Amino acid sequence: MAAKKDHAKGSACPCGKGAFAACCGRFISGAEIPATAELLMRSRYSAYALRDEAYLRATWLPETLPEEDLTGETDVNWIGLDIKKQTHVAGSDEATVEFVARFKVGGKAHRMHEISNFVRQPDADGTPRWYYVDGNFPGDA
Ligand SMILES: [Zn+2]
Repeated sequence: MAAKKDHAKGSACPCGKGAFAACCGRFISGAEIPATAELLMRSRYSAYALRDEAYLRATWLPETLPEEDLTGETDVNWIGLDIKKQTHVAGSDEATVEFVARFKVGGKAHRMHEISNFVRQPDADGTPRWYYVDGNFPGDA
């Protein structure tokens, strides 16, 4: 497993939306539960950027969680996240988040356009939380 990256307190969040502690850090640390699929999506992106394997696994629906290491590709550097749209009918336990994530491999920039599916269900303690299910890749027009 790749080493987890440290993230200095008070530094900018990898997702680009402010200071890490007040943005995704509070979710990745376990202090708070993301109230929306979009917040979970952002925190998962930041967890990829920080190679936080444990957080990625904990926020992935067990039924669709892959067995392989999610952060093993250490030459991938995540450089930006753009949330395009969250679709969530109020009260529903399903949501989608469309985003474009940008990353570099060996100095070459790539982008990943995904529509992620999320569900909300009780965790082991009975607390409802959002989980990542899977994603569709709409292709870039
Ligand atoms: Zn963030």
